[in-house]
Amino acid sequence: MLSGELDLEDNPTPITLSQRPKSEGHAYNRFSPKRTTSFMGSSPFGKAESYQKLEQLGEGSYATVFKGLSSLTHQTVALKEIQLKEEEGAPFTAIREASLLKGLKHANIVTLHDIIHTKETLTFVFEYVSSDLSQYLEKHTGGLNPFNVKLFLFQLLRGLAYIHRFRILHRDLKPQNLLISDIGELKLADFGLARAKSVPSRTYSHEVVTLWYRPPDVLLGSTNYSTSLDMWGVGCIFTEMISGLATFPGMKDDQLDMIFRVLGTPTEDTWEGVTRYPNYDLKQFGLYPPQNLMTVIPKISFIPLAAHLASQLLQMNPHRRLSAQKAMKHEYFSDLPHLVHELPDAASIFTVNGLKLLPEMDELLNEMPKKPSGRSGIRTTLRV
Ligand code: ADP
Ligand code: MG
Repeated sequence: MLSGELDLEDNPTPITLSQRPKSEGHAYNRFSPKRTTSFMGSSPFGKAESYQKLEQLGEGSYATVFKGLSSLTHQTVALKEIQLKEEEGAPFTAIREASLLKGLKHANIVTLHDIIHTKETLTFVFEYVSSDLSQYLEKHTGGLNPFNVKLFLFQLLRGLAYIHRFRILHRDLKPQNLLISDIGELKLADFGLARAKSVPSRTYSHEVVTLWYRPPDVLLGSTNYSTSLDMWGVGCIFTEMISGLATFPGMKDDQLDMIFRVLGTPTEDTWEGVTRYPNYDLKQFGLYPPQNLMTVIPKISFIPLAAHLASQLLQMNPHRRLSAQKAMKHEYFSDLPHLVHELPDAASIFTVNGLKLLPEMDELLNEMPKKPSGRSGIRTTLRV
């Protein structure tokens, strides 16, 4: 056990961003010892005693996430705790989904180390990743460095191409669910926990699920979705990284309207079969012509081929939407070293020589020489 060896009070882990809830002072919390299941017999894995729960990192749709310490490996971990009492449906769906997640080994998918099942909770033990894309976008406002956008997008596509190969959908892509490591590795998180057959509209804690990243076919009532569901979200996240602003930030009932204002209100002429969706009602929709993405997101026009790729991802008709596999081959990525296409699944793109995240604009400004404070002196200041 690590208790007693660590002085957590003297060495608190800083909580960097306001979005993350403050520590609730549970640094010495333990799991309930009433373990009912160990997945591996006498193995220390699967046992609550093997992990020490530290401060809360986040609270999302399904669970509360804590930072933790593994006394087995001495690694920092993330403990995603799901309260079983209030869980809708049988917890074993989650357990089954989790075993599936355990089989996934990819540099762009968060690694699940262990699962702990007690009477009250189901806890997933994940590798700890220091940030997520939502926090990164909040830290670096006004749009990201275009090269970093490319690196993040490529990794997102790599992770998706991998899970889509197994016909696994993420279903809830959004910046909060894309973890970002210190060196810029992007890892898909928070998937496989949603129920298999539905896209939830309310979270476990009864919050409304954001519709910003949901494709028009699903908003129109389609339940017959496939991997194209995730690809719409990729288009939204790609353009959001470029502009720094959410692309379709709908309010309660206007998510479709938001999309139609940009891409045009679909009709049978532009999307065959669209009128057969349950929620298609032309009388309720505004009639909008399609706009050029470059007009809506001016920054995209400065990035060669970005608008072309984005428009192929943001296809309203799911059958026309680009797959992850194909998107990775888009010419937009042609300036990345070719080796990124030949990596083994478990290898990060940052194993390719010379490939690294570039500083964001605000970081560059911080590095610039400061205005000399002396009375005279040559003025070398850069106006910022
Ligand atoms: P939920 O299903 O409740 O949305 P998530 O898995 O998305 O749960 O986690 C909620 C938040 O906790 C994330 O947005 C992220 O900020 C943080 N988080 C999740 N997993 C990790 C991890 N492995 N390492 C560090 N932080 C994490
Ligand atoms: Mg989440």
